[in-house]
Amino acid sequence: MGKPCIVGCADLKIDYENKKCIANSKTIFEGDAITIDGSSGEIFVGEIPTVEPKITEDFKTILSWSEKIKKIGVRANADTPDAASLAREYGAKGIGLCRTERMFNARDRIGLFVDMIMAKTLEERKLILEKLGELQKSDFIKILKKMEGYPVTIRLLDPPLHEFLPNPEELMNKIHRLEKTNSTQEIEDTKQLLERARELSEINPMMGHRGVRVGITYPEIYEMQINAVFEAAAELVRQKVNAHPQIMVPQVGSLSELNHIKQIHNRIKSEIEKKYKMKLKVNFGTMLEVVRACLTADELAKTAEFFSFGTNDLTQAVFSFSREDAEAKFLPEYLEKEMLDLSPFQSIDVNGVGSLMKSGIEKGRKVKAGLEIGVCGEHGGDPKSIVFCHNSKLSYVSASPHRIPIAIVSAAQAVLLEKKSKKR
Ligand code: PEP
Ligand code: MG
Repeated sequence: MGKPCIVGCADLKIDYENKKCIANSKTIFEGDAITIDGSSGEIFVGEIPTVEPKITEDFKTILSWSEKIKKIGVRANADTPDAASLAREYGAKGIGLCRTERMFNARDRIGLFVDMIMAKTLEERKLILEKLGELQKSDFIKILKKMEGYPVTIRLLDPPLHEFLPNPEELMNKIHRLEKTNSTQEIEDTKQLLERARELSEINPMMGHRGVRVGITYPEIYEMQINAVFEAAAELVRQKVNAHPQIMVPQVGSLSELNHIKQIHNRIKSEIEKKYKMKLKVNFGTMLEVVRACLTADELAKTAEFFSFGTNDLTQAVFSFSREDAEAKFLPEYLEKEMLDLSPFQSIDVNGVGSLMKSGIEKGRKVKAGLEIGVCGEHGGDPKSIVFCHNSKLSYVSASPHRIPIAIVSAAQAVLLEKKSKKR
């Protein structure tokens, strides 16, 4: 996202009550300016002057050589028109992952999304979804315009619904606070929110009610999103924009799940084609991020027109590591004790995750030769992983916009390394 950030900083003591935090015996109060160096992990007190990183002329030359040499495609993970523009400027040829939930998280939309979750009847939910659909359609139009001529993979909602609600503990605290005042209506509203948050809460959300499973149990949400993509596609045909949206389903583990959503896709496609009096082509594919999806990729390929490896979730599943817990609790010690060379969340674990990917690629392409298969996990921007992806004959890697130039150079290096090893 182009923002520096430090995570898993266990030494930082946060004092919520007094709105301050203490680190390394320095106290910082809410509102104080600090400067973060996301590369070194340092925090400086105060505002330090910064400069925008620029691609130098020399680096541009290297990029142009790389473009000529590389074989694997480079696309971007981008969810906003600005991110799409930046990615294109840096040389991305398409969007490999547009996470639609990020659009709902925007400040002016989250309220509407929460209302949709809280809706008491299906009719009420559908009315709110209609409004959200309009917003999504206009977002898709803007992003597709920025990426004119290139594919844009739009992923349907992935996170569990409770991620959009405050957590029950927070809500209970709020109710206690409100009880000291006299805000009866607010207490009632917060109690309803608490009830719904409890209803939706899960023991293990990572493996719970998310992705396609939400799409199956709340079909109206995926219907709204698929409709918004087709509406955007039709609108752009009218405007003579060369747009290539494709729809991707997350967390799929079986062909029956994928077929279920494909039926919705087909129905909406004919409805919009009729409405706009035109033929539309929106490719329909799936993420491979559930172990079963990789093991049964030959079945999924019967319906899917493309695959994209979600190596973030796949890594969690293969290692049985929950990323946040692993990074906060034991991964640093594993690395220190040299039990792992690199964090598997940073660079693809070739022997484990990689072998599952190879099986997915082989099975998928046995059914559909030339099937488009990419990677949209964070590994798509990691040089070592890009070499693995090139060697595995993937169609493209998808990386966040700021990592695109490095991905292009790494893709070219992968070709040179391959030539070198063949010579040997
Ligand atoms: C992934 O799992 O690799 C992926 C891209 O999905 P997300 O990170 O959004 O879960
Ligand atoms: Mg995922």
